[in-house]
Amino acid sequence: MPFSKLGLAPTTLDGVRAAGYVEPTPIQLRAIPLVIAGRDVIGSAQTGTGKTAAFALPILTKLGQHAGGGPRALILEPTRELAAQVETAFRDYARFTDLKITVVFGGVGYGRQNDALRAGTDIIVATPGRLLDHLEQGTMRLDKVQFLVLDEADRMLDMGFLPDVRRIVERCPRQRHTALFSATIPPQIETLIQWAMRNPETIEIGARRTPAETVKHVIYPVADSQKSDLLLELLKRVNYNSVLVFCRTKYGADRIAGLLKRNNHAVAVLHSNRTQREREQALKGFRDGRFEALVATDIAARGLDIADVSHVINYDVPQHPEDYIHRIGRTGRAEASGDAFTIMTAEDASHVFAIERFISQKIPRVKLENFDYKYTMLFEEGKPGQPKGGFPGKARGARVHGGYHFGMSRRRR
Ligand code: AMP
Repeated sequence: MPFSKLGLAPTTLDGVRAAGYVEPTPIQLRAIPLVIAGRDVIGSAQTGTGKTAAFALPILTKLGQHAGGGPRALILEPTRELAAQVETAFRDYARFTDLKITVVFGGVGYGRQNDALRAGTDIIVATPGRLLDHLEQGTMRLDKVQFLVLDEADRMLDMGFLPDVRRIVERCPRQRHTALFSATIPPQIETLIQWAMRNPETIEIGARRTPAETVKHVIYPVADSQKSDLLLELLKRVNYNSVLVFCRTKYGADRIAGLLKRNNHAVAVLHSNRTQREREQALKGFRDGRFEALVATDIAARGLDIADVSHVINYDVPQHPEDYIHRIGRTGRAEASGDAFTIMTAEDASHVFAIERFISQKIPRVKLENFDYKYTMLFEEGKPGQPKGGFPGKARGARVHGGYHFGMSRRRR
């Protein structure tokens, strides 16, 4: 079904056309008519499914043209990067309207945000903390809000934002339309849904626990002391255009970025200890192709629309299985195929098993040919997280070069 059959306004359709979209994605197909019909919607969809347009397009259609009197749509996002990205998408789709869009997040001065708010805005895209500051300072009111979007609700929960979200929702009129997007619906979000939404319709797109089919993902087991060497070797051998490297900690991300720099890779870092300006520059440089690698903590894993990532490398195995999906979802987006590599040490085995259980898939273990592995590794059947055979020291019966063998393939599930 074409976009023109979904009930969108002509100016919104022009925006869609200008964005180059030909057909709606499944979540757009289902969500757009519901929002236009005034229904509350809960959307669970994998990243890269076109979720932003699924809520932005019907909201733009319903808002029509610029009107004074305060924001009529509020979009809450967990991170500054996501807020900036969603604002950009709104601006793109709204380019044939005179609707005013303002983004509000912390880490930057108040001046420009105050000016925009004073001038009158129709749509606000915000992170919760700074939005509350504005509400408390009286620089913003939410009493005209007709559309409220709680995006990435599970991430809001992870980041401890749910109490802030509730305070914000309380400042919005009861008569409004609410949409909530979340990859998973843990009990706290269920409670939020019951409290904040009216008779919502749930849209589930695809199996939310499976990685995109276009992503090829494998695991490279290695001894802890050789992780960095393996990373460098992978980068040498792989024909990549742009690679996202995920680390567990900010310190680790800085260290790996330093290592890559010393090895002549053009690299940027993205984590929450960087200033807003540094974060923006890192993302922009990566998108523009100025940096071939972006080293990031999980803050970058969720929802960020970074086009053309050819490879994702998990330098550290993610601690939460859902983060694995989010991380590797950065590649293979929009039908472009990609590769995701996870470097795994003996200590990571239990996390890897948890991921495999979560996605109901076994991730193939791969050996990098001609890499000078210091230790032979033999992961045997048995208790998750308990590799046998003296790993990472000498393993039974296998030599480093030659009979190399990762016994996990025989593990029964
Ligand atoms: P999102 O899931 O909102 O982050 O969107 C993921 C990517 O898909 C973005 O680059 C969008 O510009 C793109 N996109 C969204 N909807 C469509 C569509 N109907 N056709 C083609 N690309 C789309």
